[in-house]
Amino acid sequence: MSTRSDKLTRRGLLIVAAVAGVMALATGVSGCKPAGDAPVPEAAKDKVVVVATTAMVADIIERVGGEHVAVQTLLGPGTDPHLYKPTPSDMRALQGAQLIVYSGLKLEGKMTDTLENMAKSKPVLNYSDAMARERLLAASEEDAQDGKQFDPHVWFDVALWASGIDAARDALSKADPANAEKFAANANAYKLILADLDTWVREQIATIPQERRVLVTAHDAFGYFGRAYGIEVQGVQGLSTESEASLSDINRLVDELVARKVPAVFIETSISPKNVEALVQGAKAKGHEVRIGGSLFSDAMGEAGTAQGTYLGMVRHNVTQIVEALR
Ligand SMILES: [Zn+2]
Repeated sequence: MSTRSDKLTRRGLLIVAAVAGVMALATGVSGCKPAGDAPVPEAAKDKVVVVATTAMVADIIERVGGEHVAVQTLLGPGTDPHLYKPTPSDMRALQGAQLIVYSGLKLEGKMTDTLENMAKSKPVLNYSDAMARERLLAASEEDAQDGKQFDPHVWFDVALWASGIDAARDALSKADPANAEKFAANANAYKLILADLDTWVREQIATIPQERRVLVTAHDAFGYFGRAYGIEVQGVQGLSTESEASLSDINRLVDELVARKVPAVFIETSISPKNVEALVQGAKAKGHEVRIGGSLFSDAMGEAGTAQGTYLGMVRHNVTQIVEALR
């Protein structure tokens, strides 16, 4: 037992050091701006002006672009990308951008048409588009046959997420060829950091006893996470939050929680907790105490300037919460 916790502490320190490094780097950059802000400022003159939809794709651009990019993020902490509609100031920001980056696979459900239209007249990177199709999860069994629609939550398989870095590097190099070598060096350095993170997540999840490796969350955001790291996942709502959960969805999950004695379920920062709270109540009525194991970042990251406002910090936060609640 002591060897395991020693190992965890050591890895923890490594990751904390890595996160601190990212934050130091991020403060040197112009930083993400909250949704609805005016177009990018003067200070961005000699930088590539990038507008990103989610903080996850903004994070990639900041890691690869370093001091040569000014990134504006449209969807702030707690914002649900499935439901988000672009505001007039978002539209102005998109029109003013030199490069637009979005997550893709219809994550930005109500912005997809706008983004695809923008791609006709300016550089637009659909980040998930760079990923090998055979590594993507189908959205449903029907889709598995015709390959039409995929699960968009690709960022929770760290290795899969990292497989898009070269596309980000190439898009930035096209926008600013003079700094192509720096972008390549940054991309390679970040790949190594993400490879370490991937290993750390795997080791952490492996410490949860096999029978308790069940992750129950508000919506199906963790399919890639489950596949990559060996934990079964169940969401109350489906892949998108556009359709409401039915009473039968909730009852089915309650029965499963009770039958398998699952100790904890999780809320998500960008989604109302009511369905997950209904699971807790439902299980209690059937004599099984299940607790809220914590709040996970699913489709949005934490506040800029905090550890959870970076991709590394977000993943680390989620994994720590999951492991502490289920182990
Ligand atoms: Zn989602």
